[in-house]
Amino acid sequence: MHILIAEDDYTSRTMLRAVLQKAGHDVVATVDGDEAWQILQQEDSPKLLILDLLMPKMDGLEVVEKVRASQKKIPPYIIMLTSKGEKSDIIQGLDAGADDYLTKPFDVGELRARIEVGRRLLEMQKELIESRELLAHQATHDPMTDLLNRRAIMNNLQTALSRAQKNQTNIAVGMIDIDHFKRINDTYGHQVGDDVLIGLAQRLKQATSVQDHVSRFGGEEFLVFFPFTTKDEVEPLFSSLFSQVSGISLATRKGLIRITVSIGIALSKPGCSLDELVGFADKALYDAKETGRNKMVFA
Ligand SMILES: [Mg+2]
Repeated sequence: MHILIAEDDYTSRTMLRAVLQKAGHDVVATVDGDEAWQILQQEDSPKLLILDLLMPKMDGLEVVEKVRASQKKIPPYIIMLTSKGEKSDIIQGLDAGADDYLTKPFDVGELRARIEVGRRLLEMQKELIESRELLAHQATHDPMTDLLNRRAIMNNLQTALSRAQKNQTNIAVGMIDIDHFKRINDTYGHQVGDDVLIGLAQRLKQATSVQDHVSRFGGEEFLVFFPFTTKDEVEPLFSSLFSQVSGISLATRKGLIRITVSIGIALSKPGCSLDELVGFADKALYDAKETGRNKMVFA
């Protein structure tokens, strides 16, 4: 493990470093709080800190306070080093946010045991954060295509719409539907249908560049949106998108399958609600389907 020592006493510092290195740790030893704080500013700085309480320039308490005040994804585990008889200092250190303390002269066995406690806690914390991030991802993404799901895109769209209306700019919403998707499922089976959805999702990601603006809305329907400033931008924007996702061949487990899509496009108007905007796009998509498919229709 990557460990930082801040200790001004030469003998204590040398011993700590030797013991920890022997135990296989990657150790950075500093001589005062200031130097320790500099190292903690760096990326990938040590996650387990052993800080002497009394040091020149910046004492251990100050370092603890600074570390706790700075927002790190995984806060470091801090062990304070104190001399015998500094009971009130120990309490102060723990109050300031230290996790544990060690009394000098330290016992090697005790040092190892306390480092191990810290390592276990850091490991647990990391796993918790990872599982929380995984849950957040699962709650906002479609598991098959890994695009945003309907709930997440509606959230993003609401935020974008509010911002656009406040700044008097606009957004364009495109509702995209694969033409005759049922035929693909009926002819080749659902797994091939899934391959098509995954393949189209990838093309949409490439075509839109902003991942927060593209989603699987449900079934074979996808929703994308773009902020725009002048109406002239909208047509080329969607023409380019359309050419990248319609009349294309996608790789599936049963070979290349050609698909076309229909797109219904709606532009935000002052005062229009999210539901109205999506409803207009839906209606335009319906018109595109009714008038022959493989095309885009503006609401
Ligand atoms: Mg000291």
